[in-house]
Amino acid sequence: MTSDNHTQNRELQQDARAWAAFTGTKYTAAWRQMNSPLAQGLLGGRVSARHLIAILDDHELIGARGGTPRLGEKGFSSAVAWRFNGATDFIELALITDMLRMFTPLPDSATPEVGSYSLKHTAEWFLSPHCSYVSNGRMIWAAAALGLPIAHPGGSGPNLLIGVPEREHDYVRRMVGPGQTKPKADHHLPAGYAYLQTMLARAAAGEHITGGWVRPVPVAASAPFHDWLILQAGRDDVIGHLASDYSAGVRDSDHRIARTPDELLAIFHEVSHSPEAYDAVVSTIAEWMRTVPSAAPVRTELIGGGEHDNEGWGAGAGTVERYEYLCPCGDGEIIEEHDNVPGFREHDVRIDCAKCCAEWRFVGGRPVRDWRLTPVAVSATI
Ligand SMILES: [Zn+2]
Repeated sequence: MTSDNHTQNRELQQDARAWAAFTGTKYTAAWRQMNSPLAQGLLGGRVSARHLIAILDDHELIGARGGTPRLGEKGFSSAVAWRFNGATDFIELALITDMLRMFTPLPDSATPEVGSYSLKHTAEWFLSPHCSYVSNGRMIWAAAALGLPIAHPGGSGPNLLIGVPEREHDYVRRMVGPGQTKPKADHHLPAGYAYLQTMLARAAAGEHITGGWVRPVPVAASAPFHDWLILQAGRDDVIGHLASDYSAGVRDSDHRIARTPDELLAIFHEVSHSPEAYDAVVSTIAEWMRTVPSAAPVRTELIGGGEHDNEGWGAGAGTVERYEYLCPCGDGEIIEEHDNVPGFREHDVRIDCAKCCAEWRFVGGRPVRDWRLTPVAVSATI
């Protein structure tokens, strides 16, 4: 046994002894729980039983601090004492802690906004079948031990507010909750979600997970079009209404984020919408391009085509290329053609849609293969 192992073993023994005394169970039963693969910290360090016990006294909001207990099984100011089963109580607290670790940490200054009672249900669904019951009190206990921001919303109820990102919690609740509408985009997916699901299954099968998880560094992707569009949401015109619908769709994970006008058009190609809503998209893109003249003009999705051999017309063989792209409104096409045949070379791109022909034009001075579109309204006098 190495000295590291020796230290680890002694800490487990101390934890088992403390947990046995605190819960009124036998040392051997507590020792078994301390050694469960599910209690080793799947998204971080192993949860310390002594730390869990200490937080019930020390914590500034939920700690008894020498007085009567302030947290019980049913929650804050609950007179219902903890009910420990001596077999899985510690493992369950460790699992609730890991479930809370999958969320992006909020700054200490953030106002907690997810209710502990709502979060306890989400934890039950997410951790099922490894932990089928999570009490309100244990959810608050694990959050306090993890050091998450916790607030008392006022009144004398047993529920507290816990500092995990509200949108990420909503995403998880809809992924795992019964009868929920599943999110259609993943920009609110918590960083540890998939990893924790995988590790839960492996640990439940008896594997001791080692190595630990490294929280990915958030990529600060700049999305000026998205940022600008969100800011238009308060306006009382077609662009303001589109921006409000777009913001709500991003908030509720109904569609992904549009970093560029191209992506906004692509989102509209995937969801059903009214002709008026599409017209508002064109007006929005036109205004964006007037506001930011350096913004990239639009390119749409490739939907078909390719390169074919051609025997030529007497001067040798060559190839002909033809590519089809969706037109901006999505009902027609943009056709790009190249004749690469000796004596017969031609490059051409055109809009095969009457509506888009009237509303869009190709940006001049670009090679045919690098065509881009802007709304006609960009250059129109407003
Ligand atoms: Zn069209």
